Amino acid sequence: MSLQIPDTLIERLKEAQRVCIITGAGISAESGVPTFRGKDGLWRQYRAEELATPQAFARDPKLVWEWYNWRRSLIYPLKPNPAHEAVTAMDSHYPDFLLITQNVDGLHRKAGTRRMVEVHGNIWRVRCTREGTISERIQQDLGELPPVCEKCGAILRPDVVWFGESLPLEALNRSIGFVSACDLMIVIGTSAVVYPVAGFPWTAKQKGATVIEINAEQTPITEIADYSMIGKAGEIMPLLVKGLSRK
Ligand code: NAD
Repeated sequence: MSLQIPDTLIERLKEAQRVCIITGAGISAESGVPTFRGKDGLWRQYRAEELATPQAFARDPKLVWEWYNWRRSLIYPLKPNPAHEAVTAMDSHYPDFLLITQNVDGLHRKAGTRRMVEVHGNIWRVRCTREGTISERIQQDLGELPPVCEKCGAILRPDVVWFGESLPLEALNRSIGFVSACDLMIVIGTSAVVYPVAGFPWTAKQKGATVIEINAEQTPITEIADYSMIGKAGEIMPLLVKGLSRK
């Protein structure tokens, strides 16, 4: 069955001026990145919620780093898919645009999206646990674990936001400011259970924005979405871009 994009949705896309896109792990699934909540998200016997926490890191930094090294080795060779590329096309099309991604995989950056906030950080960056200095480590394997700071010798941690930690204030403020003033929001591949990002579609809706959801299944967002498209982001997003460029 071929996917049908409603004409009214294409009209809304054409009229929109200030567009916000929110992405979660589902947009990277077709590139081969495992989501947290699917069965592929398991590593050894652990669930992500047991490893991506400050407590787990304090207890056993080597174990947490082994998991991140495993995730790095999985993600390193992967490429952006047509959904990431469609997000980049929208970044170029709209005068006012912001991508808010919960993903840490760096694939949006690889796809060339410019106006974006990585609210949960980036797996390719490390942060010194003593000085807070952030640096890039775009390599598959970090060698001996846990890695240490070249300057001060303290343990490095991944520069990502763990469960129970707050989002970086600047990223959060930029996101909330844009969400409150956008006229159209597209929410792609997020199970919409991790706050505060899960609340953004409600804020946008309350302020009068059109909310479009693209997901493989229904989520808590579905009930407030003006358009809910159930299917693969890599198939649906290019159709939206095609509709947008249609005369
Ligand atoms: P999630 O794993 O909770 O949910 C993934 C969602 O994507 C589900 O709702 C699923 O139905 C949907 N989905 C799966 N395949 C899809 C496809 N092809 N097209 C459209 N939708 C699809 O992910 P989440 O909501 O982002 O929350 C998990 C948290 O874990 C995030 O905070 C994120 O930081 C982190 N995480 C990041 C990555 C990554 O960087 N790629 C991967 C796993 C988890």
